[in-house]
Order: sequence, then structure tokens, then C-alpha cells
Amino acid sequence: MRPTIPPSEFPRQRASAHSPGEPLMAASPAILGLAEANDEVRCVACAHRCLIRPGRAGICRVRENRDGRLVTTVFGQAVAANADPIEKKPLFHFHPASVAFSIATRGCNFHCLHCQNWAISQAERDGRSVRTFDLPPDAVVAAALAAGSRSVAYTYTEPTVFIEYVVATARLALDAGLANVLVTNGYETPEALDVLAPLIQAANVDLKSFDDRFYRRILGARLAPVLATLVEMRRQGIWVEVTTLLIPGLNDDPVELARLAGWIATELGPETPWHVSRFFPTYRLTDLDPTPAATIRRAVEVGRAAGLRHVYSGNLADGDEDTRCAECGETLIRRRGFAAERAALVDGRCGRCGHSLAGVGLAEWGPSRAQS
Ligand code: SF4
Repeated sequence: MRPTIPPSEFPRQRASAHSPGEPLMAASPAILGLAEANDEVRCVACAHRCLIRPGRAGICRVRENRDGRLVTTVFGQAVAANADPIEKKPLFHFHPASVAFSIATRGCNFHCLHCQNWAISQAERDGRSVRTFDLPPDAVVAAALAAGSRSVAYTYTEPTVFIEYVVATARLALDAGLANVLVTNGYETPEALDVLAPLIQAANVDLKSFDDRFYRRILGARLAPVLATLVEMRRQGIWVEVTTLLIPGLNDDPVELARLAGWIATELGPETPWHVSRFFPTYRLTDLDPTPAATIRRAVEVGRAAGLRHVYSGNLADGDEDTRCAECGETLIRRRGFAAERAALVDGRCGRCGHSLAGVGLAEWGPSRAQS
């Protein structure tokens, strides 16, 4: 039986106003704003395409109309900066065992009732303040290099809402020899993707359900733009992995999951990694139980039956997160927690049958056949 979400907790889709007397946050000019009549501005960074009146903010609360111009209040204002394993994003086929220096700002364009990072993503919406700190783009790159990173990841909250910060940092990161990684809900517009695609090498995209009603009711968004983003990212040559968090009774129907997995296999390719992840009660969905392990294992089987060659189970103590050869089944990469260890992967290929493993930065990882 599907749990009931109280109507009072449904995501609301209104642009917001500042509270009376609240001081304006410092702001920088934003991109992807279109001038409209009466000093209104349309933000086209994400598929909400908010029409914002002067003095008000978009749904994400961090992009505002000030005197008829779109501004961002989060440029260079981080809420988190950590040297993470790339496996934590999760990206399993992109420079395995490397460090992804990970940053976020406050704000998000989704209002997921089960958000794991609600303290930073929903702070404005919930009327709470969140501590931020100055971290300009050059400082991000310097910190990433000092931490021995291979990439900079824009993550934890939705990077589309801080796209100016992403763009400025990503340019410097590329100049410094680092890759750029998005962890995103996939709600970018084609206009935003045109800006991002030349700068981003990999993305983990949440495909949270294959049901538009779930998107509207639980997340405050729509499914179709996410599917379009996934296809476009793939077309633009970004390495894409997909994550689906399964919530008991809300998006774990095997028939729906078979449609979702089949869509990935057909539209993105059967070697696209799919991460099926376990839900734990949080934020506004605390009355649900954690996802049973059996549900995750069943979803993994559903994914494989749909033709996907690399399906991973996340957030399970004994989950199967090893990478196996799509041809002969040999274990190529072993994982325990966020640690990855090269097994039979040699020069990016299976050491037993020679089949090439799909991904980026695999051949350069660990000793080559000639060295071993
Ligand atoms: S990023 Fe999305 S939610 Fe935020 S103002 Fe722009 S269109 Fe609205």
C-alpha cells in the first residue's frame, strides 16, 4: 500500500519574497536570465523556467530579480567543501579510486520530501539560516590540487542553481588539468546544458522514478525534462551514470523499474551504470521504513533483465558494488565502502577476455599490462 503524504507537505511551486526587513544578500550577475515585460525576468537555468518579479526569487530561492536583472546570491559562497572519493558521487566508471573535490552552495530547485541534504538544500525554503563561507573559484581549484584531486565535483545540492560558480570554477579546473563532475537531478534546460557541456566530463544523474506523478508529488518537478537531459548529456559526450533511490511503496514497483531500466538501456546504452540505492527515513519522510534489502536486490535483477550490464546496489551493508566484465563476468574492480581496488582490469580491459570496460580514465588507472 502506498503511504499517504499529507497535502501540507506537498512541494509548493511559488516564487518567494524576502521577509519584511530582511537584509538583501550580496549578489552577482547571473547568466541565463531573459528580460520580460514590467521588469520581470525569466530564469532559464532549469526546467522550472521561473518568471520572477522584481524583488523576488525563483523556486530555488538563490536566484533573484533585482531591478529587472537576474542575480545569484551564492556565487563563491560554499556550504560544503570536501575531498571525497569519486565512488561517493557515485561514479564507478570514471577515474576510479580518485579524489573528487566536492563543493556545494545552499539552495535547490527540487523539494524532495526525502532529501538527505535538506539542511543545506532547503534552508531558505524552511526559513532557516545556513552557515556559508567564501570560497572563490580559484580557491576551490587550489584546494582541489592540494588534496590530490583528479576532479572537482559540483554536488550535495543542485549545481544548476549555482551554475555561474560551476562555470567559473570548471574553467579554472580544466586549465589546471582537473576534470569536472556534476551530481545533478537532471533538470537543466538545453540552454544550461549548452553552457555546461564543454566544461563537464562526467555526471551522475538522479532518475528518481519513471512516473511523472511521483516527480510532481514528491519532488516538485516533472519527469520529461530529466529524460531529455540524460539523452542530451550522452549526445554531448559526457560520461553518464544514473542513480535511483528506491522508497518503499513510492517508486519501487518492479514493473515501473523495468520500464525505467529498459529506457536507460535503449536511450543511453546497456553499458550505462545504474546505481539502485537504499532509502533511509529522513526530512519529511520519517514515517517510512528503510528500503528492505530484498527490494534492492530485486531491482538489480530487474535492471539486468532489462539489458543493463552494470547495475550496482547502494547503501547496503553487503551490496554488490564490484564491477564485472560485461562479456565474461570476471571481476574487474572490487569495492568495499567507498574504496575501489583494481582486480582483473588491465589497460581498461578485462584481463581474462580482453573486453573493453565502458568508462573514462580506466586505462590509466594502476599498472598496465606492460608494467605488471
Ligand atoms: S534555477 Fe530553476 S528554480 Fe532557480 S530561478 Fe532558475 S528556473 Fe527557477
